[in-house]
Amino acid sequence: PPLDKKEPVGRVGEGGNFSRYAGASRFDQLPISRRTKNGLKGAGFVKMTEIQRASLPHSLCGRDILGAAKTGSGKTLAFVIPVLEKLYRERWGPEDGVGSIIISPTRELADQLFDVLKTVGKHHNFSAGLLIGGRKDVDTEKERVNELNILVCTPGRLLQHMDETPNFDCSQLQVLILDEADRILDVGFKKALNAIVSQLPKHRQTMLFSATQTKSVQDLARLSLKDPEYISVHEES
Ligand code: ADP
Ligand code: MG
Repeated sequence: PPLDKKEPVGRVGEGGNFSRYAGASRFDQLPISRRTKNGLKGAGFVKMTEIQRASLPHSLCGRDILGAAKTGSGKTLAFVIPVLEKLYRERWGPEDGVGSIIISPTRELADQLFDVLKTVGKHHNFSAGLLIGGRKDVDTEKERVNELNILVCTPGRLLQHMDETPNFDCSQLQVLILDEADRILDVGFKKALNAIVSQLPKHRQTMLFSATQTKSVQDLARLSLKDPEYISVHEES
């Protein structure tokens, strides 16, 4: 069957058909759009890393994910691809507003993952913005933030927009990502994260990725995770 059809391959609660793709080892074997495949190919990504192979069949079905794999294992693509695919399948457009929020603990990491998003999402028409504070003038950002489809941000700057930007609207949010989740869930970000999550719709896909598995039931509850898929990849030694 054509793999780049716009229909979703599965939905949360319907079981999905992830098992069909569980054995895939290359990106071109996944049920993803031609646009994403071309973005991956253009960047030289052909074979999936272990965390990508283990998580993508689930995340592409809309499941919540708790993914753990060491630094350098390729976690970024494990969430960038499902973000692009979800919005593509929903035919997300400029007028639909914020469809996905990707939270990173530091400006530097946000910056890096924004580059990956731009490279792999090159053939899509989504608008994406990097909201990390410091460098950019927040007032200019405020005028544009409502036109963005994908936000890559640090907790502090995102919360600043939620508090100060007129008409800032996340009510249609489809996918929430916490990169380096263990650091974001740490005490230092606790208040900011609670304030952010309280303003997000509960019906959404949520994915947490970090080097260590997040086990705190309380953390998972406050993020409203629904029957998450726990995926841990450990190096054989
Ligand atoms: P992590 O977030 O787990 O620390 P990254 O997503 O930053 O890892 O990826 C680490 C490095 O591996 C990056 O240079 C990235 O370009 C590369 N990489 C990721 N996935 C693949 C892949 N499927 N094939 C080849 N290189 C990859
Ligand atoms: Mg990373």
